[in-house]
Amino acid sequence: MSQHAAGPATEKEARDVAEAARESEWSGPSFVRELFLGRFNLDLIHPHPVEDPAEAVRAKPFMDKLEAFLKRVDSDMIDRTGEIPEEYVQELREMGAFGIKIPKEYGGLGLSYTSYVKAMAMVTSKDGSLTALLSAHQSIGLPQPLKLFGTDEQKQKFFPRLAKGAISAFALTEVDAGSDPANMHAHAEPSADGKFFTLTGEKLWCTNGTRAELFLVMARTPDAVVNGKPRKQITAFIVEASWPGVEVVHRCRFMGLKAIENGVIRFTNVRIPRENILWGEGKGLKLALITLNTGRLTLPASAAGGGKALLQASRTWANERVQWGAPIGKHEAVAQKVAMMAANTFAMESIAGLTVGLAERGNYDIRLEAAIAKMYNTEHGWRIVDDALQIRGGRGYETADSLRARGERPIPIERAMRDARINLIFEGSSEIMRLFIAREAVDHHFKTAFALVDKEASGADKWAALKRVMAFYPTWYPKRWVGKGQMPGSFGEFGKLSGHMRFAERHTRKLGRAIFHAMVRLGPKLERRQLVLFRAVDIGAELFAMTAACVRARMLMQQGNSDATALADLFCRAARVRIEQLFASFYGDFDGEMYRVAQQVMRGEHSWLESGIIDMIQGDAPHVADASLSPELEPAQPV
Ligand SMILES: Cc1cc2nc3c(=O)[nH]c(=O)nc-3n(C[C@H](O)[C@H](O)[C@H](O)COP(=O)(O)OP(=O)(O)OC[C@H]3O[C@@H](n4cnc5c(N)ncnc54)[C@H](O)[C@@H]3O)c2cc1C
Repeated sequence: MSQHAAGPATEKEARDVAEAARESEWSGPSFVRELFLGRFNLDLIHPHPVEDPAEAVRAKPFMDKLEAFLKRVDSDMIDRTGEIPEEYVQELREMGAFGIKIPKEYGGLGLSYTSYVKAMAMVTSKDGSLTALLSAHQSIGLPQPLKLFGTDEQKQKFFPRLAKGAISAFALTEVDAGSDPANMHAHAEPSADGKFFTLTGEKLWCTNGTRAELFLVMARTPDAVVNGKPRKQITAFIVEASWPGVEVVHRCRFMGLKAIENGVIRFTNVRIPRENILWGEGKGLKLALITLNTGRLTLPASAAGGGKALLQASRTWANERVQWGAPIGKHEAVAQKVAMMAANTFAMESIAGLTVGLAERGNYDIRLEAAIAKMYNTEHGWRIVDDALQIRGGRGYETADSLRARGERPIPIERAMRDARINLIFEGSSEIMRLFIAREAVDHHFKTAFALVDKEASGADKWAALKRVMAFYPTWYPKRWVGKGQMPGSFGEFGKLSGHMRFAERHTRKLGRAIFHAMVRLGPKLERRQLVLFRAVDIGAELFAMTAACVRARMLMQQGNSDATALADLFCRAARVRIEQLFASFYGDFDGEMYRVAQQVMRGEHSWLESGIIDMIQGDAPHVADASLSPELEPAQPV
């Protein structure tokens, strides 16, 4: 007996599920949220949060052990064999690396999120597969949601095991449910007495799944009825790997992260006691999204850690390698790569450090900053790895083993590139991050004015919206034309960087105006113009990155490190050029043409272009999308 709405999710259902799971309230202020409203509220992030010195002292013994361990790890062997040796895992367990943030009272190290992400950055600089193992367990696996949503009994029961190294996994994705969880098929039916649920379904790409003792599984439970209509419900369950019906059916292998313990996990009539529900029935997707909101703080720090390692390798090589009569770093084309690598790594570390610092300071809603940090750092990290490979030339493309075999230093840039690519896909792909940020960026306008253009809104709703509009926009809009950034000499405390801060203030107001103008110009169609929204998101991300870099450089300057100013300055110069370009083509010079050609290509109208090749695709498609689902000239997915 199942009470689930049948069939694949329609666009409306997918949106309803995502909206229902969205955190509709803001738990605190957010610099980035203000920024999209055209308000440069610097006080929210400046002065830069300072790490408690006592925390660094507390973390030191663990960080020292971790560093010593990593220096001994043979990452080429891990990459070659596709396995992390058990003795490595055991050593990590013994030093507490699986319980870094778990409170001491439950046997964990009780360290802060800042210490945790520093540890992950260090691990990433050495070995991506080890990062995947530790981070899938602690960023999204059971410890984090248990900390946020677990009952006291659940914490007593699971934290001590997790702290000792019982590995956990986060199981959300399925074959048909990638970025769109509304398509989830795994389902759990309650028993007649309500004491148990019976889980059936299959989860895909579950990191740590092939080694886990505990799973956090998101599955559909019977639909709720909202306004007389069924609404899909998703619930989070803690599932023991040892229970009957839990089976690893396939270990997945990838281009990089060769030793990631990732697989397809099948659940067949698995009996789960009700007390293993985390947070509550129907709250599973919200739990997953909130977990990802904070879990996302790890990847930005990891990307910065990777950037540092690549910078070090690149500058060493740029000095050593002499071609055409000079070290290659003296040739301008290579020099600019080294310079931007350093400036971007500095900005990435600033974004990651500031975001985690704000999360720890509390009374701050971190979701937009975390999403930008994830998107921005993984994309810049990818560019850094690409530049590092180019600087190393042929050696960049050669495996570490091969370099070693012919007597050269085995610098593993080739592995770093393979390992880094997935960062733009998992934990929210770059596109999904931009959609998420765009949705939150327009939230205030949406709440204020949407009813005016909503066909389903009642007359009373429209009247209320009109009153809100009249109360907000006549004061808000004129203020977006004047501000501190127009005053010469303002932001003087930033010294040489003050001009960049003035630029950021002026362009924050310009962004607020541009989003408002786009809403007026495009009306409800704006939600389908992903490229316009994405340009707004990218401008916001650049402005946040510039501000984070300047705020951190100023803090470092006060601590006696004035070298950071040069890096922040270079980063801001480049970011300003990108921002100006994004504004210049805000509505896209040929977005419509691109969309039209894409649809022609998808219909096979240009398949003549594909002659003279051997087909890459073999076999039948598992299922072909119904083209009628996507209107001809109207992009399919609204925000
Ligand atoms: C190595 C690895 C580890 C993973 N670990 C885990 C894990 O531990 N737990 C877990 O639950 N999952 C895990 N995943 C799954 C991962 O989170 C998904 O791959 C990711 O959510 C994207 O889903 P998808 O691959 O099905 O892409 P799809 O959703 O099919 O998307 C395909 C492409 O279309 C884009 N796209 C989709 N929708 C839109 C839209 N509306 N607008 C614009 N663009 C869109 C996407 O950005 C992407 O580029 C892992 C995946 C990999 C490869």
